[in-house]
Amino acid sequence: MKQANVVIVGGSAAGFQAAISTARHKQIKKVILIRKEQRAVVPCGIPYIVGTLGSVEKNLLPDALLGDTELIVDEVTSIDREGKTLSTVGGETIGYGKLILATGSEPVVPKMPGVELQNVFAVWKDPDYLEKVHRALDKARHVVVIGGGFIGAEFADECRKMDCKVTVVEMLEHCLFVNCDEDFCIRIEDKLTEVGVQILTGCRVQSIQGKDRVDCVLCDRGEKIKADAVILAIGVKPRVDLAKRAGLSIGEKGGIVVDQYMMTSDPSVFAVGDCAEKYSFFTGKPIAIRLASTAAREARIAAANLVQPRRQRNLGTIGVFSTMIAGAAIGVAGLTERSAAEFGFDTVIGEAAAVDRHPSAMPGATELRVKLVFDKNTGKMIGGESCGGVSTGELSNCMAVLVAAEMTVDQVTTLRVGTHPALTASPLVYQIVNAGEDALTKFI
Ligand SMILES: Cc1cc2nc3c(=O)[nH]c(=O)nc-3n(C[C@H](O)[C@H](O)[C@H](O)COP(=O)(O)OP(=O)(O)OC[C@H]3O[C@@H](n4cnc5c(N)ncnc54)[C@H](O)[C@@H]3O)c2cc1C
Repeated sequence: MKQANVVIVGGSAAGFQAAISTARHKQIKKVILIRKEQRAVVPCGIPYIVGTLGSVEKNLLPDALLGDTELIVDEVTSIDREGKTLSTVGGETIGYGKLILATGSEPVVPKMPGVELQNVFAVWKDPDYLEKVHRALDKARHVVVIGGGFIGAEFADECRKMDCKVTVVEMLEHCLFVNCDEDFCIRIEDKLTEVGVQILTGCRVQSIQGKDRVDCVLCDRGEKIKADAVILAIGVKPRVDLAKRAGLSIGEKGGIVVDQYMMTSDPSVFAVGDCAEKYSFFTGKPIAIRLASTAAREARIAAANLVQPRRQRNLGTIGVFSTMIAGAAIGVAGLTERSAAEFGFDTVIGEAAAVDRHPSAMPGATELRVKLVFDKNTGKMIGGESCGGVSTGELSNCMAVLVAAEMTVDQVTTLRVGTHPALTASPLVYQIVNAGEDALTKFI
């Protein structure tokens, strides 16, 4: 029987990071990582295999990052928590000192007529499956994307780059409506429309039709949309069967219950990433945010706590997200104006827009807009949104730091920032600070 100090089940964002961070602690002599797939994809890069990257091969996680961690390609079928062993499809029994579950999530596949037809694809994070998706999209001329969240919007943008006629069908009033405030959603919708993508919002797909292969999609408002391929992008659900069978507690949003140390109801078993329940930084209540960045953070916390119990605490998920669609980037950190209201906050909003270089004649200067959300009662920043060019990505990370540090409107207004003509906005119009000052005028 194989034996390791730490065994990790799952080899994507969470499992990879757990292995890398655990192996950094030299006290841990032997780490084993078990994953189902021979090759692991970079999950966030999946839409880009269609156009920008052009192949699945260019979107693989390099196993070399695992260093001395032993990689086993197999599927874990059961956990014996008393004996501290795992069993696999391949017939192995593996003993563990501590176990990290990083079994992730899988796409929600709706029970809709026609979903089983050829060329109807959910977004499975499996390279062999994705190769089939790539081949089909390569030949397709008409693509329908069901679901206009960030995954659907990214797929739509990539498919149109391949000269496909793309339609996005979204049942909510806007694409990206779960992630952003309305004005930011509209900006992305306008960009997609400009590049030729048709967007149907407030519209539900009723059925997918075709003989063996998809031919068209029918919507509840009567639209019939031609389709050679369909991408289903309507969300994910945590993959927790293994944990359930092992008797671990499952939470209200379907993830494995963990405490602030990423420990499950069994002190020898940790859970990280999409399979673990998430709790809001703002309310402590379960929330359905599942991101690779969150997964990697949780994995680092679990690794530290394996080595020194209760070394690091997870004080909650903030949700930091960014994307670039049809040349327009948006980023969100924490609560939007709408989600803050849903959470019961009274808010004060600060806004600012300026180019992200100075003077504006500098090469690469792009208009960058920032919207900050403050809690009216405490003055603390609880969220931020931005849209503009490539600087938007790191700007949303910066906004996440301000939210996590619970900075007040006065602290945001007096931030210490560095500026440079070729790299940032001018200090006179630095967007986060100016948006803070805009909010300050509404507090005073
Ligand atoms: C198209 C797309 C784009 C995305 N873009 C972004 C983005 O830009 N930014 C961002 O932060 N997030 C993004 N996400 C979300 C992100 O991909 C997920 O949050 C992330 O993959 C979660 O990582 P994970 O390791 O927890 O789970 P997963 O990626 O789901 O991996 C789970 C792993 O567990 C293995 N496994 C499961 N069960 C077993 C078993 N019984 N035995 C052995 N192995 C098992 C699987 O084989 C897999 O290796 C995107 C997701 C998709 C689908």
